[in-house]
Amino acid sequence: MRFELLALYGGPDQVMTVTSGLASVLGLLLLFWNKVVGIFFKMVRMFRRSDAPATPKTSKDAPKKNLYSRVRSLRRKVIVIGLDGLEPSIVEAMLGRGELPHLAKIRGSGSYTRLKTTYPAQTPVAWSSFVTGTNPGGHGIFDFISRDPVTYLPDVALTRFERPKSMLAQARVVNRRQGVPLWQPLSKAGIPSTILRCPCTFPPEELLGRMLAGVGVPDLRGSQSKGTFYTQDRTVAAEDGEQLVFLDSGTGSELTTRVVGPRNPRTSPAVDTFCEVRVQVDQAAGKLVIHTGGSPSRIEVPEKGWSEWVRFKFKFSLLQSITGIARFYVRQIEPHLEFYVSAVNFDPAAPMFPVSAPPDYAKELSDKIGPFSTLGMAEDHNGLNNGRLDESAYLQHCDLVLGERERTMRFELDRFSEGLFFMLFDTPDRVQHMLWRFRDREHPGFEPDLSPELATRIEEHYRRCDALLSPVLEKVDETTLLIVLSDHGFGTFRRAFDTNTWLWKNQLLALKDGCKPGVTPGEGFAGVDWSKTYAYAVGLGGIYLNFERRESGGILEEGTEAERVRRAIQTGLADFPDLQTQRPVIRSVSRREELYSGAFVANSPDLLVNFHRGFRVSWQSAVGGFSHCMLEDNMRRWSGDHIVDPESVPGILFMNRAPQPHQRQDQARIIDLAPTILHYLGVAVPESMEGASLL
Ligand SMILES: [Zn+2]
Repeated sequence: MRFELLALYGGPDQVMTVTSGLASVLGLLLLFWNKVVGIFFKMVRMFRRSDAPATPKTSKDAPKKNLYSRVRSLRRKVIVIGLDGLEPSIVEAMLGRGELPHLAKIRGSGSYTRLKTTYPAQTPVAWSSFVTGTNPGGHGIFDFISRDPVTYLPDVALTRFERPKSMLAQARVVNRRQGVPLWQPLSKAGIPSTILRCPCTFPPEELLGRMLAGVGVPDLRGSQSKGTFYTQDRTVAAEDGEQLVFLDSGTGSELTTRVVGPRNPRTSPAVDTFCEVRVQVDQAAGKLVIHTGGSPSRIEVPEKGWSEWVRFKFKFSLLQSITGIARFYVRQIEPHLEFYVSAVNFDPAAPMFPVSAPPDYAKELSDKIGPFSTLGMAEDHNGLNNGRLDESAYLQHCDLVLGERERTMRFELDRFSEGLFFMLFDTPDRVQHMLWRFRDREHPGFEPDLSPELATRIEEHYRRCDALLSPVLEKVDETTLLIVLSDHGFGTFRRAFDTNTWLWKNQLLALKDGCKPGVTPGEGFAGVDWSKTYAYAVGLGGIYLNFERRESGGILEEGTEAERVRRAIQTGLADFPDLQTQRPVIRSVSRREELYSGAFVANSPDLLVNFHRGFRVSWQSAVGGFSHCMLEDNMRRWSGDHIVDPESVPGILFMNRAPQPHQRQDQARIIDLAPTILHYLGVAVPESMEGASLL
């Protein structure tokens, strides 16, 4: 049976499919049924909750504070703007040219430094360390992708879907991020937080204030981003992470087709739900008129343009349905019709699972600013990776997402008067992932014809991000601590290294008779002989040893032999050469005990590969597969990345305050920010936080 991995990478970020029964996915399918069963009860609870003031469960435990401290924290405010993936070398060069005036102003009134990120330098890992003030061993998020030691299959590391315990119970989605996020001590102290689009906040937890979830929220089909390509060309085949629908190829100017919704749990086996749409082709005007069957019921979409959001209702039965929102993009009208429909997002006004706290906050926000993307990875990188969108269409889509975020920020800033305000803009990360090849002449995907126009789009986007800070600076007064940061830097991704193929070539991983890398089914370790395998790679840099009693087919005991395997991998991979480019691929391999401490270390990979800039783990190895060779050119449009040695991709940190003299600026770490914020607001820093206040 074929299931979709609920999936990610992420590099964040890429959706993939995995064959076989993944427990988490089965849970997701079951969850649709239980969602329907529980929908009535849930609505009742939601209405009740919405009537109640948003107070933390633990408010009665709030520590008694002295009057001075209370008054001081009431008056003080902290605004944090996250710009995901902003690269210091680009920022510094642009500052030097005077192209980032708002960031320059913050630096002038306070400070700027590069910011140490986490091992690995990944969005969900780094932002989880930002909010908990701990290394990943303290919050349990080590990668976008984890693995099930029983099945060895890759799994989404950010959330877990749990089967209901009875027919009447509801399935649950659980945030896997552990630790104490900074809004918990703030809530206990009676200080409100507004937390917008922070990764690993799905499902959102109760807090004093408001929260809108970010990276980790799936689309309506349980994927991290699955759009649909519509074409009259019957020779087209579906690509990774998309659905394909063939259109009638008649000569008329009107046709009908369907928007694909979630699978219907009422049917056995579960089948896709649909909403029928009627498409009129207006060739003279170069547009489509689409009768959506949803809301709005009629839209016009120009060729090479995106539509507004359309709300669809997918019916499971006469009485049961779920709504979702999607946008259309018209790729071409002639010589044959082709268009694209974005991943169907949870409807913020009625999401399948709560995407906000309080649960009705997302509806309130959509009532105020209009519908908005709820998907964790909202920018449609899959559409571009698969060639369904071109760079222009992708950048348009990024602009739409950024516009929604900006409206959200402005609306919330207007009513922000106390406590903590946090807003993350993911779009700079996504733009850099997909556009980097145009600025790197040595990238195998560099295109001399397109590059002159597209090479500077990343700088353009940085200028756009700088402009976002204008309304923020207007809000800053003498009682406000302003922090602008990125979670990691960025670089080129020219060559992909297949760790599993390397392990196989070095007799540390065995394939069954007749299986070969690149020939054997590509994902989920089909073909691996676990009885002769010492180590395997899953995720974006992690290597696990095949331990007895931990892995179901484990053969290694902790001790001399495990140590021999660790040393063999560390020495074999360090400075492994790329003979084609004459460059070293890997800077070092870290042991987890060197990197992590805390309650969740046991969930981390045993070893972490720290790549040199320009290299990254291969797409195949990340999901338990094998490439036919150890090193190959990265020809995907996903051409920039940051999952390399974290020492070489620090983030940026701007503050409108100067750090204390005893805090060496060049030593600022992402884990220092939560203690800094709590200290500024006069709240005791929890013992679990390892960082130290910079102020
Ligand atoms: Zn990224």
